[in-house]
This record gives sequence, C-alpha cells and structure tokens, in this order.
Amino acid sequence: MASNSLDELLFKQDLILSKFKDFGGLVNLHLVTKKDYLVGSYDIVREGLWQMDIPTGWASPTVLLIFTPPIALYVKVYGRWTDQLGLQKAAAYGKKTTTPLNWWWRHGLCSQKQQQGKDSLEMETDKYLKIMEELTSNAHEIQEKLLEEILKRNAGTEYLKGYLHGQADKKLFKENVPISTYEDSMPYIDRIANGESSDILLADPIKFLCNYTGTTGGKRKLIPYTAESLDKMCLQQILAEAVMGKYFDGLDKGKGMYFFFASPEVETPCGLMESSYATTYFKSSGFENSVAKICTSPVETILCLDSQQSMYCQLLIGLLQRDQVLRVGTIFASALVRSIKFLEDCWKELCFNIRTGRASDWITDAGCRNALSSVLTEPNPELADSIERACGGQSWQGIVKKLFPKTKYTGVIVTGSMSQYIKILDFYCGGLPIVSGYYSCSEAVCGINLKPLSKASEVSYTFLPNMAYFEFLPVKEDNEKLTQESRETENKNEDIEPVDLVNVKLGQCYELLVTTLTGLYRYNVGDVLMATGFHNNAPQFRFIERKNVALNLEFEKTTETDLSRAVTDAEVLLEPLGFLLIGHTSYADTSSKPGHYVLFWELKIPGTSDMPKLDPKIMEQCCSTVEKSLNFQYGIHRKYGVIGPLEIRVVKYGTFDALMDFYVSRGASITQYKTPCCIKLEDAINVLDSKVVGRYFSPNTLY
Ligand code: AMP
Repeated sequence: MASNSLDELLFKQDLILSKFKDFGGLVNLHLVTKKDYLVGSYDIVREGLWQMDIPTGWASPTVLLIFTPPIALYVKVYGRWTDQLGLQKAAAYGKKTTTPLNWWWRHGLCSQKQQQGKDSLEMETDKYLKIMEELTSNAHEIQEKLLEEILKRNAGTEYLKGYLHGQADKKLFKENVPISTYEDSMPYIDRIANGESSDILLADPIKFLCNYTGTTGGKRKLIPYTAESLDKMCLQQILAEAVMGKYFDGLDKGKGMYFFFASPEVETPCGLMESSYATTYFKSSGFENSVAKICTSPVETILCLDSQQSMYCQLLIGLLQRDQVLRVGTIFASALVRSIKFLEDCWKELCFNIRTGRASDWITDAGCRNALSSVLTEPNPELADSIERACGGQSWQGIVKKLFPKTKYTGVIVTGSMSQYIKILDFYCGGLPIVSGYYSCSEAVCGINLKPLSKASEVSYTFLPNMAYFEFLPVKEDNEKLTQESRETENKNEDIEPVDLVNVKLGQCYELLVTTLTGLYRYNVGDVLMATGFHNNAPQFRFIERKNVALNLEFEKTTETDLSRAVTDAEVLLEPLGFLLIGHTSYADTSSKPGHYVLFWELKIPGTSDMPKLDPKIMEQCCSTVEKSLNFQYGIHRKYGVIGPLEIRVVKYGTFDALMDFYVSRGASITQYKTPCCIKLEDAINVLDSKVVGRYFSPNTLY
C-alpha cells in the first residue's frame, strides 16, 4: 500500500468530504493508529470505534477534519477502509484526538479556520520530542520495516529485478544487491528524464528530479524525489525545531532571520521538473505554512532568482523587523557569511531606504517589490540612525548581536567543510551559540543534532530510522599511520561488509550507504562519518569528511580532514596579526615538474575590506606549517623531491564570493553551496587565479 504525501492530503480531504456527503447521518469511524508513520508499514498500536454525526450536505462546523502523519489514522467507513475510498493517510474527528490542531494548521495540513484553541509551543515541543524518543527507541524495528516496505514496493523494478528476481526478500537484498554510486543509477535516471516510465527504478510516482551541482565533487546529479521525500524533509525540520524549543525559551514569540535562496528550475524532456530540493521545499505548502511563517523573509524574496535583489530585500525586511528577530541563520554557513558580507557592502543604501521609506530603483523584481510594499511603508529615521550607528561603528565584531539584540543563536551548519567559517561567524555574531541543527543530503534525510549547544567539533547527529534504510561501510582510520602498502591493501577491501544502523561500533568511521523509496539502492553517498554514541537505540555520528581524496599527486592521498587540520595549524600564525582566514581551497598543480599543492587563501582584517599587509616570512611559515601537518606519505614524497614546495596564493577580498557566483552561474544553489575543499575544474581555478595578490612558497629544504 503506497503512502501519500502530506501535501496531497488537502486534496484528499476534499475527496473524503465528498464521500461523507454521500453517506449523511451517523457514521461509524473505525480508527487505527499507525506507529511507523511515513514508513508505510501497518502496525496497529491502537484501535477505537467512534461515532460521528455527518450531516447530509456536510456543512457542520462541529466536525473537524484533521490529518495526523505522526500517528496516522485510518478510517473505516461502513466497513471500507479509507484507502479504498482513495485516502491512505488521513482521518477524521476532533473530539478524541490529542493532536494539537494549530500544529496541523502551521504545517499546512488543515486550513486556518479549522484551528481551534492554541496549544503552547512547549506542548508541541514535548510532543515531537516524544516522537523522537519513540523513533530512536525502535530504531532496529523501524529500519527492518522500512526495508521491507522499500522492497515490497520496488522489487519489481528493472533495477532490482536483476538482483532479486522480483522477490521482496531482505536476505537476497543483502546478498545480491551491490553497493552503488551515482554512476549506477544514472542510466536509469537519464532514461526517466527522457520519457521512459519511472517504474524502471522506483514504484512511487516521481514529483521532481532533484538536481545538485555538487561543488565538493564537482558533478551534476539528478535524484528522483517523490511526495514522500518532501514529507520527510518537513518532518526533519519539525523535529529539529522541537529540539531547539527545548534549549531556547520563547522562540515562538519572535521570528528567524533566515536567508534562503531558490535556484532556477528546468523541465526535462519528459516534462518532469528539475529543481534543487531546497527550491521545491521553499515552494511547498509545507514550507509556506510552517517555517515561512516564522521567517522574516517573505516567500517572494526567497523565490526571486536574482540573488542580489533577493539578498538585499531579505536584509532590508529583516532589518525592518529587527526587534522581532530571535535567531539568524540559513542552511550552510557559507550563505550566511555571504549575506553578512553583502550587508557590509550595502548597509548605507539599506539605511537610506529605511530613512526615506523608499526601496532602491534597482529592485525591479515584482515579487520583491511586492514584499517590500507591505513592510517598507513609511520613513523610519530612528531605525535608520540606530542601524547606522551599529554598522558605522569602529568594528563589526558582534554586528549580528548589535543589529538584532534579541537573537538567541545562529542556526547554520558549521560541521565538515563548513568549519572554515566558524571564526568569521564567531566574529560577526559576537559569541552567539552556532547551532548545526541537522545532517542531510539530496539523497536522503539523515539525522538531527540533539545537543545544539555542543561545540562544532563535538556535534553528532542522531540518525532518524524512518528516513531511509541506512547501512555503513567500515573504513580504515588513522591515515597518518598507514604505509603505502597498507594504503594499497585498503583499496582492495571490497570484501568488507556493510553493517546495519544499530550495529555500528563506537569510534569506527564508516561510509554512508542509503536505500530509499526513491530508487537508490545501497547507494554510497560519499560521506565519511564516525559513530560517536547512541540516543536510545539510534546511533549518533560525527561528520568527518567527503570521501573523495582532496589532493593526490603521487598516491599520497591527502584527505579533506588532512587539509583542514593542516590549514587550522597554520592559521594560528595569523591570529596575532589580527587576520582572519575567511575562505580557502586548494588544487594540485601539475603544470610544472614536480607537481605541487596550491592553497588559495582569502584573508581579512575584520571590519575593513582593505587588503592586509602580509609579511613574506610569516606566509612562508604558514606554507611550511601546512606541509609539516600533512600526512606521512606527503612528507616522504616531498623529502625526495617527488612533490614540490607547497604554495599559498593569497587572493583579493571578495574572491570566494566570486567563486560562489561562478558555481551558482553553473547551476549550484546558494542555499546548498559548499566551498569546495579542492578544485579540479579549470575555469574555477582561473576565477581564483585572476584575483591573486601574493604568492608564497615553502622553503625547498624543508625536510
Ligand atoms: P546537498 O545534497 O547539496 O544538500 O549536500 C549534501 C552534502 O552536504 C552531504 O553529503 C554532506 O557532504 C554535506 N553536509 C550536509 N549536512 C552536513 C552537516 N550537517 N555537516 C557537514 N556536512 C554536511
């Protein structure tokens, strides 16, 4: 039995209403609560019989229709289950349910006029924390049922048929279905995009093809998304929100200044839309009726495809509501830093707009102008003065706190490659807690951070067992100690078996594999995670790195973690000078012999956009510190001259924004943008090279 999207339920609501209309009179409702919501399995945990008076013509305001995805209710009307009536995940009746109605309203599942009474945020928080407890306590059971459901629905697809011969058998799945990468799914996805039926890969109808231009891996990928994928994204947000409600009081009394940006959508030859998941989410009623309601940025500004106009208007509208702002954020740290830097460039113009009550003429986007027209209604010289005082002060240290004094935390992901933004965010946000709320990828929603106040280096994500069937492929750790020989055998360890979610070992690193209802089977996401603990029976993972080797000239295999650690060691040398490293990336330069590593660094003296005066000696020391911190294999190759001295190229202020613009121009979404730790694309290297202001090398005789 396929489950429905919550989005579709509103439509279904009309369906069931019309069915009831036909019956009229007293109807027996047989309600069955389903434990593993959104999983598609049908465990009956509670059953009850209610009576409901359905007047002919269905006009009674006394009967409330609500939908309950966390505890899905199935309705039996005159012996027929609602799914036979065309409804799978819905229910009626308000009297006996404990579901807070305003939740359903906030999440777009019933209309505003159905909202009755107000449940406090605390009650909602408690409710979702309880759901979290239930999910994590039953992790194994839920995973097993989810896999069963995925196979039941998809065993007959062309992809799986070759391995399972049509049998929805978990044992066969483990024995026969190989670990896959995007390249394995790509031919099927391409065929679907070109018009073949999607059931060659998955049974559920595809809602859109989620595209992402992985700036980390560099390749553009398309992942099928079903209505259920969007439900899962919404659920993750709601659960993460409940966790925030537990740690920060009164969040419902104000707004979040979240910077979100949509990216362009295109239609595939078969008429399916190709879109980033963030864009589709921003356009969904789930977003409109939940996060958008607490967000200072109106949806029209988020959907504006001109990123300058969108960012400008989101800043302007946020500043106009500054007294209501209780949190500031976006998804990944890079977009927040970009937005604050943009504010640094345009605060005078923003103040002029606020002072005069008139928007700048270059804001031409109809949606943005419309959004501004309802908030920029009159001159507000007091507000303009106050913003000018904050922005025109000596330093921009703590500017977020100065402009938005009620802010309780900054909500952005700063784990993994985003950790390079922690220092600059600490500077701008004046020590506000920086919360990395969740971990997910275009392929699947994965986990949430149950301890939002942990330091970035200690953040772990608790996996949600109802999101995807997760497996973990153990990886060898401690690259420092590996010899060339062991690195080669490491590559041959295909016989290492993946382990299930609940069987991971603490302290062990794994590559994440996901099996989903969207046609990914034992798909290697390319992330390396370390198991750090359990919450109930669900494991928690620290994000370690993207799997791809960052730099590799002579089989020395420098990973993202190696590089990041080495750069952090060198960065210490800049601190006494008051410089911040606000962007870095790398590439392996093989244009000369021997090849060598090139790091691009953007440096900044906080509060000014002037170029810092660099001392060549210190920069040389930075080069050698990076080299000394790199792995053993790098050292050997460098010692024998197989790899040349490492080079740091310092680039002009704003270069990493230009790099982001470059990727955005090629289809990447600003919201999902992650600065690549290593660049292979020549055009991107050219963008950086065109802005180099100084080149520094490690001494030849380092080793
Ligand atoms: P995207 O598909 O564009 O959303 O990118 C997903 C990738 O971003 C993941 O595979 C990770 O590599 C990275 N990512 C997502 N969430 C986090 C997180 N909380 N911490 C570190 N990296 C993350």
